[in-house]
Amino acid sequence: MIDGKKISISIQNSLKEEISKIKNIYNSIPKLVVVLVGNNPASISYVKAKERACEKAGILCHVERLEENVSESELIKYINELNLDSETHGMIVQLPLPKDLDEEKIIQSISPIKDVDGLTNENLGLLASGNSRFVPATPLGVQVLLNEINAKTEGSNIVIIGRSKLVGIPLALLLSSKSDLGNASVTICHSKSKNIKSHTIKADIVVVATGFPHTLTADMVRKDSIVIDVGVNRIEDNTKKNGYRLIGDSDFEEIYEIASKITPVPGGVGPMTIAMLLKNVTKAFLLNVKK
Ligand code: NAP
Repeated sequence: MIDGKKISISIQNSLKEEISKIKNIYNSIPKLVVVLVGNNPASISYVKAKERACEKAGILCHVERLEENVSESELIKYINELNLDSETHGMIVQLPLPKDLDEEKIIQSISPIKDVDGLTNENLGLLASGNSRFVPATPLGVQVLLNEINAKTEGSNIVIIGRSKLVGIPLALLLSSKSDLGNASVTICHSKSKNIKSHTIKADIVVVATGFPHTLTADMVRKDSIVIDVGVNRIEDNTKKNGYRLIGDSDFEEIYEIASKITPVPGGVGPMTIAMLLKNVTKAFLLNVKK
């Protein structure tokens, strides 16, 4: 089992040291603003985890909570204020946003030099051109995780199930890039793909990111392959105090018997996402002071 939490803690500890040095050099520390709209319970818990991680690493984190019914123009006005605020180095808008808001328009209103989620067209374009600035935290976390477990990407066949702008597409760009942690042959599958098993069964590494439990079943996986499960699904569970438990998009227990390595949910990709977000905030600070 791949212990994403352990790897993430070690990355966060090094970051803590880096931030302490930054404080000594610049007499200032990186600041992240998280914009949280509405009361989505999963979003609230993700934001709390980000806040806690920032605090531990020595990064300032301000969470701006806005009402569910905030208008698009009010939200964009607030983002524009953050764009101009010299003390805010990075910002993220927690997704998903309430249905009435145009997510794409709101994301694109973030200044690309503060877009630590790497979702603006400018940052995705830079990634595609092999000249990345901010890479979305989850795909970056998957790439770092593969490196940490010594999974060779060069020349390997990698299948990614899911083609979102947040996970699948940037991950495909990273892993197929001409770089030490890339150089893989990447296949992307999605909801219109036919016979996904015919792809996954030949893969050295399968990454699944659909948001649907049981997307990847044991019969779809080759013996000794590596499985990275990005999915996070809340399943009702009355034996738990909060009434639910988290599962991924793959059949963990069955695949565990076949694959050489697999990430658990929780405790796999999730903690890596947080570590990479902190890295991006630190990078945003440094880009800003070197301007
Ligand atoms: P998304 O935007 O909804 O995209 C899901 C993708 O999966 C789409 O490309 C969709 O295809 C594809 N898909 C859906 N059902 C499929 C199926 N049965 N077979 C093949 N492909 C299928 O979701 P996302 O934002 O990428 O997130 C995916 C999952 O990762 C979610 O569970 C999310 O909570 C989780 N996540 C976790 C982290 C973390 O830190 N651990 C971070 C981000 C996301 P189409 O394009 O054809 O619709």
